[in-house]
Amino acid sequence: MSEAASLPQVAGKLKADAPLAPLVWFKSGGAAEWLFEPKDLADLQGFLRDLDPSVPVMALGLGSNMIVRDGGVPGVVIRLGKAFAKVTRVDEVTLECGGGASGILVSSIARDNGIAGVEFLRSIPGTVGGFVRMNGGAYGVEVKDVLVDCDVVLRDGSLVTLANADLGYTYRHSELPEGAVVVAARFKGRAGEPDTIQAEMDRISASREASQPLRSKTGGSTFKNPEGHKAWQLVDEAGCRGLTLGGAQVSEKHTNFLLNVAEATSSDIEALGEEVRRRVKENSGVTLEWEIQRVGLSAEARSELTQ
Ligand SMILES: Cc1cc2nc3c(=O)[nH]c(=O)nc-3n(C[C@H](O)[C@H](O)[C@H](O)COP(=O)(O)OP(=O)(O)OC[C@H]3O[C@@H](n4cnc5c(N)ncnc54)[C@H](O)[C@@H]3O)c2cc1C
Repeated sequence: MSEAASLPQVAGKLKADAPLAPLVWFKSGGAAEWLFEPKDLADLQGFLRDLDPSVPVMALGLGSNMIVRDGGVPGVVIRLGKAFAKVTRVDEVTLECGGGASGILVSSIARDNGIAGVEFLRSIPGTVGGFVRMNGGAYGVEVKDVLVDCDVVLRDGSLVTLANADLGYTYRHSELPEGAVVVAARFKGRAGEPDTIQAEMDRISASREASQPLRSKTGGSTFKNPEGHKAWQLVDEAGCRGLTLGGAQVSEKHTNFLLNVAEATSSDIEALGEEVRRRVKENSGVTLEWEIQRVGLSAEARSELTQ
């Protein structure tokens, strides 16, 4: 790609060849060709407006649903910092949340303001931008049930507000435009008692703790639940519990989670996922679909590019 000099001037941080492994849950994978942390909304808009339209752009939240391939991510990765992490009350039941705000912050501010209905975000590691894109959900509620609308900076730098209905939501999927960055979202809950909301958040946390490897290097649910099935059960029935490949392992605790247990490369993790898909297909006839976003280039593709 272009030299630094040909990238637009920014007020925030712009770093070349920035390692992404420390920024994602799996702690594996290559570098971003460029990593941009905008100072504020105007900085983000100006940068995208002036950036060569052929340069690919990808937003990154907490990397809790992502395999960054070992050859890294071409173009610009955008990470929203503190300027985008505020959560404020709009009215009795509505919150405005910055695209970089965490689920814990959103659910805590909701509780403080007596807003029930977003407790589920307490249990999903990630940012509002990631939740909106992925239609994140847990315990029978998902983002599409609480999202009013969101503010999005498009690849050309323009700022638009997209209503819930514009996002084409299905299970763990939205039709957010390519290269778009969610900078804010409004979530609507219902009136509730802070104590009751806290109790629900505690119940959700305890249930998570019991069933998921929360302190591991992982990417959350690997595969979407196929219609009429539970992905973890299909994986288990195919004999994949604890299966390892290189430094990657299928979690013993929750079989729809892959783990980086011993300096796994992203290639190990992705290959293990593909092996699980193959065994599940062979055992049950069901084709599992990846939920985890796999981004960037393999090490082989990168070395071909640089030869
Ligand atoms: C232990 C664990 C438990 C989990 N449990 C659940 C669960 O119960 N339910 C569930 O739904 N998910 C779960 N996940 C997956 C993950 O937490 C969600 O998918 C979450 O929405 C990802 O948010 P993120 O900000 O980290 O996004 P990332 O993982 O960084 O990115 C995911 C996708 O969102 C896009 N994205 C990120 N930020 C923005 C933005 N600002 N604008 C536009 N696009 C953006 C990325 O480009 C990418 O396509 C779990 C993950 C872990 C590790």
